[in-house]
Amino acid sequence: MSLNFNFSAEHESVRDTVRRLCRDELAALVTDAEESETFPRHVFKRWGELGLLGVRYPEADGGSGLDKVSDCIVREELSYMSQAFASSWSAHSHLGIWPIWKAGTPEQRKRFFVPALAGDKIAGFGLSEPDGGSNVRALKTRAQKVQGGWKLSGSKLYITNAPIADFLLVAARTQPELKPESISLFIVELPNKGFDIHKLRKEGIRASETALIHIEEAFVPDDCLLGGREGTYPVILDSLSENRVGVAANALGMARAAFDAARTYANDRIIANKRVGDYQAIAHKLADMSAQIEAARWLVYYGAWRVDQGTLDAATASRVKLVASETALAVSEQAIRIHGGAGIMREYPVGRIHRDALVYVIGEGTSEVQRNIIARSLGFKP
Ligand SMILES: Cc1cc2nc3c(=O)[nH]c(=O)nc-3n(C[C@H](O)[C@H](O)[C@H](O)COP(=O)(O)OP(=O)(O)OC[C@H]3O[C@@H](n4cnc5c(N)ncnc54)[C@H](O)[C@@H]3O)c2cc1C
Repeated sequence: MSLNFNFSAEHESVRDTVRRLCRDELAALVTDAEESETFPRHVFKRWGELGLLGVRYPEADGGSGLDKVSDCIVREELSYMSQAFASSWSAHSHLGIWPIWKAGTPEQRKRFFVPALAGDKIAGFGLSEPDGGSNVRALKTRAQKVQGGWKLSGSKLYITNAPIADFLLVAARTQPELKPESISLFIVELPNKGFDIHKLRKEGIRASETALIHIEEAFVPDDCLLGGREGTYPVILDSLSENRVGVAANALGMARAAFDAARTYANDRIIANKRVGDYQAIAHKLADMSAQIEAARWLVYYGAWRVDQGTLDAATASRVKLVASETALAVSEQAIRIHGGAGIMREYPVGRIHRDALVYVIGEGTSEVQRNIIARSLGFKP
C-alpha cells in the first residue's frame, strides 16, 4: 500500500489557472452579480474556453481529461471567490450533463453534452419538487407517452440555472407506480411552451439563479428521453453521490475564505493595544477553525480519490458532504463572531459566506438525509 499526500504538478496547474481567472477576471463581477441577483451568462463561455466545464470528463468525449481531484480543486477555488458562481458551475458541469455523459446516446452527447462543455449551452437539473426534495422516490412529475414523444406535467422547485438555461434535465415518472424504475430523465430544451419558469429570490448564493417551474403538458420529443424507458434512477443516484464529494469541495472553499478573512481581521484589529487574535479566546477559535478545515480538506480529497478509483459508495459520499458542509457553516459563523459588529456589515465577506454555507447543509441532500444514508450503511433504519 502506498500513500501520497501531494497534489501533482497538473493539479497545481489547475489550481493556478482557476486562481488567476478568479483574481483577474471574475472577482470584479461578484458584487454586482450578488446585488442584482443575476448570473453573468458570458462567464460560462469563458469557463468553456479554459476547459473548466469538462475537467473530469475524458478527452475522447470532449472533456479536459483530468480527474475528480482536479474537479474538486476547480470547485474549491471558485467557491473561495463566490459560492454563487461555483453553484452555477456545479449545476451545469455536473448535475446538468453528467447523466448525459453516462447514459446519453451519441446523438444526445453531440447535441447537448459537447456544446455544454464549451459553454455554448447552459444546463441545469430538475429533480426536487414542492412536495419533497428529500424524498426523491415520491416525485410526482408525470411523463405521458404521446405520438412522437412525451408530455410532461408537474412542478420543480429550487432549480439552479433554470432562469438562464438552454436545457434542463428533468426527472419525471413514466409509469404511475411509485417504484424507482419508473423515474426517468428527459432533456428539455428551453424555452418550452409548457415550462413556466419563476425566478426565486434567495438569502444565500444570490448571484446563482434559481427557479420554481410549473410544467403543463410540455412536449418533449422521443430522442430527448435519456437512457430508455426502463428509467434512469440508478444514474441519478450515482450522479448525486459523486456530486456530494464535489459540493464538499465547494464547502471547503467557503470555509477557507471565511477563515482567511477572520485571520486577517484578527491580525489587523487592535483592542486595548493587542491584536484581537492575541486574545486567547479568539486565538483558540482560529486554531479550531484551521484544524476543522484541515480535516475537511483530507476527507474531500479522499472522496475525490475514491471517485477516481471507481470505489466511491453512497455512505462515504454522505460522510464527506456532511463533514465539509457543516464545517463551512461552523467556520463561517466563528468568522463572523471574530469580526464582531463588522461581521454583520456587507463590506466584509463573512456574512455572505455564512448565508451561502447554509445553502450547503440543505442543498444536494440535507445533513439529516446524509445521516440517514450513513446510518443505513451501519445497519439501522432511520
Ligand atoms: C439554493 C438551492 C438550490 C438548489 N438547486 C437544486 C437544483 O438545481 N436541482 C434540484 O433538483 N434541487 C435543487 N435544490 C433542492 C435541494 O436539493 C432541496 O432543497 C433539498 O434536497 C431539501 O429538500 P426540501 O427543500 O424539499 O426539504 P424537505 O425535504 O421538505 O425537508 C425539510 C426538513 O425535513 C428534514 N427531513 C426530510 N426528510 C427527512 C428524513 N427522512 N429524516 C430526517 N429529516 C428529514 C430535512 O432534513 C429538512 O430539515 C436546491 C435547493 C436550494 C436551497
